[in-house]
Amino acid sequence: MQEPALTGRDDAVESALLDRRQRLLGASYRLFYRQPFHPVRGEGVWLFDRHGAPYLDAYNNVACVGHCHPRVVEAIATQAATLNTHTRYLHETILDCAERLIDSLPAPLEQMVFTCSGSEANDLAVRMARAFTGGEGLIVTELAYHGVTQAIAEASPSLGVKVRLGNTVRTVPAPVDRGDGAAAMGKRFAAGVQAAIDDLAAHDIRPAALLLDGVFSSDGIITGPEGFLAPAIAAIHRAGGLYIADEVQAGLGRTGVMWGFPRHGVSADLVTLGKPLGNGHPVAGVAGRRDVMDHFGETARYFNTFGGNPVACAAALAVQSVIRDEGIADNAAAVGAKLHASLGQLAAAHSRLGDVRGSGLLAGVEVLDRQGGPDAGLAQTLVEGLRARRVLISATGPHGNVLKIRPPLVFGDAHVSTLGNALEASLAASTP
Ligand code: PMP
Repeated sequence: MQEPALTGRDDAVESALLDRRQRLLGASYRLFYRQPFHPVRGEGVWLFDRHGAPYLDAYNNVACVGHCHPRVVEAIATQAATLNTHTRYLHETILDCAERLIDSLPAPLEQMVFTCSGSEANDLAVRMARAFTGGEGLIVTELAYHGVTQAIAEASPSLGVKVRLGNTVRTVPAPVDRGDGAAAMGKRFAAGVQAAIDDLAAHDIRPAALLLDGVFSSDGIITGPEGFLAPAIAAIHRAGGLYIADEVQAGLGRTGVMWGFPRHGVSADLVTLGKPLGNGHPVAGVAGRRDVMDHFGETARYFNTFGGNPVACAAALAVQSVIRDEGIADNAAAVGAKLHASLGQLAAAHSRLGDVRGSGLLAGVEVLDRQGGPDAGLAQTLVEGLRARRVLISATGPHGNVLKIRPPLVFGDAHVSTLGNALEASLAASTP
């Protein structure tokens, strides 16, 4: 993490904000960029600084239908001006929202429980899986991120080695795509999952769940061929555990289809949703099998003060309407194909770029050193170079060398060109 630095004539305001922030928010917060970014307004795929300068947002997946989408803003404002209570009273919007989500998800997902964040959703899904299976074991990938609660931080190895994994958590290597097809990739990944199941058994721990981010975002963005997850899901089911599909990143159109996991031809027992669901308003949840939810409901009551309140559900309902009415998933597929083609061309022409992965409007680009190894330093330089050219992206992966590109899903062809040109110029400037 580089220390933020502020320079130049116009930085007095940002400098003061930085001081206040460090004093008030403390050490655990991190800022992006050497010169912190201070947006004051958003619209569509654009963020604007206080001077009115536009920045192309190719990073923020939360604002999936575009920053400040008028229909979402209107839905939130109207509901907030009418009533905002909680899920202990009858309310149509909560049911409309749940129904719309369930209708869009494949069987056997039949019920919805709302939370405020993806972390809470994963935490709740793991509790449900543990209650249903009677097991405690939880299997995640080696660099997974699933959230911030105690139980979920203990299953989020990407938080760093100082955040201890839980005693009943086992990690498996992330899937490796060697281009040898879904069967081979699936076999490799499932072998890791089976080894984790065996290790749990050796420690007398029954497995509760395999919890997977469908796009393996923090593992370096891995989408792979359709179907490769199936053997791993079969393995956890054989062992009596559930498959929890974490759709916080993949869901709601990101990969060019509404949900990520069905492309593997598997059924999920529980699905967790978050980030894009409210286009920025805090709303998240768990969709699940009726028997799993029933079992949980028999042993525990569930109430979440803010989770799924009428304003949150109005936001989520509006987001789903916009996704449908504006063909957002199709746009992610079409523009995503152009994005991948453009990044692929750049990578083919430039020795410091390697594998281009992902699908739809989610792309990861490996940045390499002269020997072809991972180059986190250059990745960071490129992220900064793009910011200097007013394009926002980030970097991720086990070596921190994978450019992470996941714009609002209203990204268009012209934005792909802007991003490609900025990346090309940043490469040229930083790799003489
Ligand atoms: N799961 C995944 C795959 C995520 O990427 C995140 C957030 N980055 C979460 C869960 C946690 O979501 P939240 O920050 O809303 O708690």
